[in-house]
Amino acid sequence: MFKKHNFGAGPCILPPTVISEAAKAVIDWNGSGLSILEVSHRSPEFESVMTKTEVLVRELLKVPDSFSVLFLQGGASTQFSMVAANFLPVSARASYLDTGFFSQKAIKEAGFFGEVEIVGSSRDGEYSYIPDNFEVSPDSAYLHLTSNNTIEGTQISSFPRTSRPLVCDMSSDIFSREINVCEFDLIYAGAQKNIGPAGMTLVIARNSFLDSVKHALPSMSDYRILRENGSMFNTPPVFSIYVAMLNLIWLKNQGGVREIEIRNRKKAKLLYAEIDRNPLFKGRSNAAHRSIMNVTFMARDEITTTEFLKLAEKRGMVGIRGYRAVGGFRISLYNALPLESVRALVDLMIEFEKISLMNGGFAPEVHS
Ligand SMILES: *Cc1c(COP(=O)(O)O)cnc(C)c1O
Repeated sequence: MFKKHNFGAGPCILPPTVISEAAKAVIDWNGSGLSILEVSHRSPEFESVMTKTEVLVRELLKVPDSFSVLFLQGGASTQFSMVAANFLPVSARASYLDTGFFSQKAIKEAGFFGEVEIVGSSRDGEYSYIPDNFEVSPDSAYLHLTSNNTIEGTQISSFPRTSRPLVCDMSSDIFSREINVCEFDLIYAGAQKNIGPAGMTLVIARNSFLDSVKHALPSMSDYRILRENGSMFNTPPVFSIYVAMLNLIWLKNQGGVREIEIRNRKKAKLLYAEIDRNPLFKGRSNAAHRSIMNVTFMARDEITTTEFLKLAEKRGMVGIRGYRAVGGFRISLYNALPLESVRALVDLMIEFEKISLMNGGFAPEVHS
């Protein structure tokens, strides 16, 4: 349907069938004579969308009954403060692993609610690796992790076991690989990378963890109130949830998380192999901690970077420029990105190397 290779980091590529079904529902939802944009969130039809979406989340991630599934608003960024508002006061201190840009944002917000213990940080290595061998205070309210560092291109492969509840920002790798939900007490993720369009935030929380909160909170920040109201304390993001449902049906039809993980690993392997082979490029992250969702790499120098960006744009490749503060390239390989797009990029990297050899490298342009 689309002619572009969309490697954007988020909002990101969605399956073409999901987009065309969503487009149809905007015009006329299931022959109801109404647009999905104008139906009541209290209608039985939309109630069934909520139910179905929750069932899909539970099925695809094997979420046990002892956990609640919530569809909230405000993005992952609101969860940075909401998690801390709910749980940090329980013991006046919470622990954070500092693995990059989004961890730092979570740490900053937590600071409004009490003491933040940084158990480990890879800041010294420009966040090119995931710290290990860290200690968590036994009286900490929880340990907060970022499973995939979207900007830096690192990912936690196995989650640490500690005595403290585990909270994880999974915004950029949820539904991309198998996880054991039981290892966590609360998982949150903004929708716009693998779940659906921006607007909905998924929270999966252990009920006993939510029940451990004893203090009063403003209603919209209180997980217990949002749970009691079935994520309908106020108007939920109807369209975002609807498209998330379509996308999760797509995922299920692909064979679920296990199958998509195989495909995602294949895409990442293909691209990292070319980065490691091609003398013009160099991977940014420690090889053992490389992300399979966001692949970051650098070119030999500035002029090579600029030339490759120009060529890629000419060939219909979108969203490959690295985050400003990081530079280089970032290629996002979210679930809906086909292997063919990765092949096209790898072929272009090979072609680019040949062009470079013919020209004897890329010289800065001479201005007369
Ligand atoms: C994108 C992202 C966020 C921010 O999400 P918003 O929904 O824009 O608030 C937070 N954490 C991670 C890991 C992300 O990738």
